Parts: sequence; C-alpha cells; structure tokens
Amino acid sequence: MADDADVIVVGGGLAGLVAATEIADAGKRVIVVDQEGEQSLGGQAFWSFGGLFLVDSPEQRRLGIKDSFDLALQDWMGTAGFDRDDDHWPKRWAEAYVAFATNEKRDWLRAMGHRIFPVVGWAERGGYDAMGHGNSVPRFHVTWGTGPGIVEPFERRAREAQKSGRLTFKFRHRVDALSISNGAVDGVSGAILEPTSVERGQSSSRTIVGDFTLRAPAVIVASGGIGGNHDLVRQNWPKRLGEPPKHMISGVPEHVDGRMIGITEAAGARLINRDRMWHYVEGIRNWSPIWPRHGIRILPGPSSMWFDATGKRLPAPLFPGSDTLGQLHYIMSTGYDYSWFVLTQSIIKKEFALSGSEQNPDLTGKSWRMTIKRATNKGAPAPVEAFKQHGADFIVRDNLEDLVSAMNALSGDNLLKPEHIKAQIEARDREMANPYVKDAQVMNIHNARRYIGDRLIRTAKPHRILDPEQGPLIAVKLNILTRKTLGGFETDLDSRVFGNDGQIIKGLYAAGEAAGFGGGGVHGYRSLEGTFLGGCLFSGRNAGRAAAKAV
Ligand SMILES: Cc1cc2nc3c(=O)[nH]c(=O)nc-3n(C[C@H](O)[C@H](O)[C@H](O)COP(=O)(O)OP(=O)(O)OC[C@H]3O[C@@H](n4cnc5c(N)ncnc54)[C@H](O)[C@@H]3O)c2cc1C
Repeated sequence: MADDADVIVVGGGLAGLVAATEIADAGKRVIVVDQEGEQSLGGQAFWSFGGLFLVDSPEQRRLGIKDSFDLALQDWMGTAGFDRDDDHWPKRWAEAYVAFATNEKRDWLRAMGHRIFPVVGWAERGGYDAMGHGNSVPRFHVTWGTGPGIVEPFERRAREAQKSGRLTFKFRHRVDALSISNGAVDGVSGAILEPTSVERGQSSSRTIVGDFTLRAPAVIVASGGIGGNHDLVRQNWPKRLGEPPKHMISGVPEHVDGRMIGITEAAGARLINRDRMWHYVEGIRNWSPIWPRHGIRILPGPSSMWFDATGKRLPAPLFPGSDTLGQLHYIMSTGYDYSWFVLTQSIIKKEFALSGSEQNPDLTGKSWRMTIKRATNKGAPAPVEAFKQHGADFIVRDNLEDLVSAMNALSGDNLLKPEHIKAQIEARDREMANPYVKDAQVMNIHNARRYIGDRLIRTAKPHRILDPEQGPLIAVKLNILTRKTLGGFETDLDSRVFGNDGQIIKGLYAAGEAAGFGGGGVHGYRSLEGTFLGGCLFSGRNAGRAAAKAV
C-alpha cells in the first residue's frame, strides 16, 4: 500500500501544529488529523493565557531582574524533585529545555511575529530555600495576544503549507488505533465523526459517519493530556495526595479526554510518571461556561488570606501564588476539597487575574488603551468584576460577620466560626503597622513590592483586611480545577517513543502534553509555570525536525 504522507500528526493543538509546520518546512508531506472541527484548531493553547517561561530575557533585564541559565536550572531542579529511575529522559529534557528558554525560544518566536507584554509576572514563588521549589525571580512572560497570539504564527505557517500542498488537515477524524508492521508504526485508523457547527471549545458530537485508514512511515502523537476526563484523573491520582477529590471542575475542554494515551499504550508505548499531574486549587466555577464543568483559575497576587474549609489559615509558605502542589497536598489533608480566599476590594482590584484568553480581552485584543487600565483603574478588570457579580463562588459583604455567615451558607458545611476567622485576620492586621514583621505572608507582600512589575500591577499597597476604607470584604470559595498531565510517553531528545522493552519504537514520536511536555515528564512533580506551552513548542519542534529527517 502506498503512503498517504511522510508523517501523520495526531492532534492539531500547539504541539501538533509546531511539529507539522517543521515537517512541511523541511519539504515533507504531512497530514494532521484531529477529532474536533476546524473551528477548534490550536486546541488548549487558544484558551491559554499565553504565559511563557523565559530566562534572562530583554523584558526581565529592562525591569532590573537578574536571571541566568544557572539560576533557572537550580529552580527547575528544586521544583521538579526528580527522584525515579524513570526520570532519566525527563531530566535530560529539563536541561535542554531550560537552555532553549534561555538561548533560543524568544528569538525563534519573535522571528515569526510573536510579541510579549512588557511586565513579567512572578508565578510559583516558592518560599522554601534556594534549592527548593519556586521561581527565584519573575519569569512568566505573557504573550501579547494571549493564547491566540501563540497559536497564530503556527497556524499561519500551517495554512501556507496547506496552500502549497505539503500539509493536509483532516478534521473530525478520530484515531482509534495505530497500525504496526514488522515492529514499526506505519499509520493510523479510526472513525470519521459527523460534521459539527459547535463553537470553539464546546463539546462536539461523537456520532460516527465513516472510517478511515492512513499510512505513513512516521506518526507523531500530540493528542494532549487527560484533564478533561475526571475518571482518568481520579484513576491516576497519586496516593501521596490522599484520596482523589470528590468534586472537581474542569480547566480544559472535553476533548482533552486522554483516550489517545490508552490507544498509544496499547501499541506498546511506555507511559511513565502517570501519577504526576498539575491541578490548581484556586478554581472558580465559570458563570458563563463554554465546556462542561468549566472552571477558571485565579492567578492570585500575594495578599489574600487563605483559609481551609475548617477556617484555619493555610500554613507558611502556602500563600497565594507560592506552591500549587504543596497547597493541593495540604487542602486534601483537611478532608475537604475546597478552601477560601478572604480579601478586600483593594486586593481584588490589583491582584486578581483570571487565566484564559477569553478572560483577558485587553491582552487578547492587543489593546494598550484597555491594558493600561490595569494600573490606573478604580475597579478590578471587567471580567473579574463580572465574576464578583455573577460567580457562584463569590461573596461580597460589608462586615466580617455577614461574610462568614454567607460562607457557611455557600458551603453548606457550617464549619466556620466567625470569632476564629476574626482573631486570625486581626492578628495579621496588627502586623501591617511596620514594614519589618514576623508574619511570613506579610513579609512576602513587602518583598513583592520591591519588584517594580508587582508594585505596578500585581500587589496591592499593604493594608488591614478589616479597614472599611479598603472594603467591601470579599470571600471566594476555591475549587480544585483539573488542568495538566505531567507524565507521558517516555522519549529521547528526538521525541522518539520507547516501548515497554526499553527499545525505541520505530516510526513513533510523541510531543506536547501526551509526552509529559518532553521525555515523559520534563516537569517532574511541579512546574515553574509558563512551561507547558513552551514544552509543546520545544517537543513539537524536536519531534517534527527528527521525523522529517528520518523519513
Ligand atoms: C485556560 C488555559 C490556560 C492555560 N494557560 C497556560 C499558560 O499561560 N502557559 C502555559 O505554558 N500553558 C498554559 N496552558 C496549558 C497549555 O495550553 C496546554 O498544556 C497545551 O496547549 C497543550 O497542547 P497539546 O498540543 O499538547 O494538546 P491539546 O491542546 O490538548 O491538543 C490535542 C489535540 O489532539 C486532539 N486529539 C486528541 N485525541 C485524538 C484522537 N484520538 N484522534 C484525533 N485527534 C485527537 C484533540 O482534539 C486536540 O485538538 C493553559 C491551558 C488552558 C486550558
């Protein structure tokens, strides 16, 4: 049987698009198959905030941030905590990826027209020691145009290749099996799904109207993770985090179904680190959902007070924006799968950002006029205000007693004692009189404000939570929100997949979230953030270049 292409890419998300454009640019013929309709091209990346981990960038330098490959690698290793035999390739990918983020990533993207918002964000700040988890310095570079701005250069390149006949898209083609001849993967087969007119990101029908088989000497699996499939998330939930949460919301569309992972495993591919995942603890139910159980992650600044379901303040250093996995671990240990932020209007206005392209019309729409309002506006950005008004998890009250009573009513658990919450807030508020104090969260706030980017748009002027001038008071019920799959198919640096016998499976490559963003888990246990899109860029590029060379 003749080949239909030189390479087949399964998945038209960011990793698949990057791989496919590299293949086409190398003069080879590539087919991209995706189970969704054309309107969802770009997958999760379109919905993303477009945050990118970059090291020693001109944006950092302009803000006075001194960063380096060595500092970033120290942070990466302290965060990843690689501790398994299976971490051989993930660790090699991590070293290569930090080098890519230091030396190449920004220039490579810039040459394709990608641009960056000048204020660099500071995610996952840690709070342990220099070798522990977290970013020592701000490194979260937001794409000007957010998610669509990161998809755009690759979609443009793909459309050009499509015009020249080197790239073919096959939408509504769902791969159900990989074909293998003489030990080598040489094609895919599956179902053709009925056409769909749903909006981007909405769930589409799974009604089958035909079948297909395609042949090529190389197949790249770039099918994303498992975050949209809560059954799979629960099945893979690590024992070290206790029982899986009973209630979760989804930070990804339903097509992030993990199905192709099982199909690739069935072909003999070796999946490693399946118990490593990156879910958020600051999820809020979307009052205007696009996909089922749609939740949004709050990207919090450092000042909100954080209480567990029983009303106890989270221990140091589990402050907003410090250690996502540590917070998840702590919250699951309370026996409840939710927690609370308590804050003021002054804090929400300056410190709440919502992750997602549709929640940031200023940055997504590339409007300087709207973006500048982040620093000057009297209220919070419009999407945050909309959540405050319509969001099921938001409570706004003028006094603490009413606030706590509404919190008890919302959870239905009646666990919060007003005097307990009040005593903790008052104690924290007494620490506001001096800039040198013992409360570690308050120290953090002062530290954050020494960075100009935080002072400008991310950290409110220190104030008492119970100061009526800063009010009203706000409580937000925080849910666990599924998002990223950190484990994946074990690959070498050319993204070639290993089989269960430890040998490379000829013809098979994996990239993006399906490959644990590189090697089967480039992040180890934790992420420094902005590393997922970058992992798709790097592993997609390596897979595309290697496959094009091999065929
Ligand atoms: C709201 C949001 C905000 C985010 N913000 C950031 C951020 O700021 N920074 C960052 O680094 N990361 C961020 N991320 C994460 C990042 O966007 C994703 O990890 C990344 O885009 C995954 O890309 P992918 O190509 O690996 O997979 P996907 O985007 O999931 O694409 C996989 C594609 O494969 C298709 N597919 C799956 N199975 C099959 C099959 N059997 N047959 C055919 N097709 C199939 C799917 O339909 C899909 O189109 C965010 C994600 C979301 C949702």
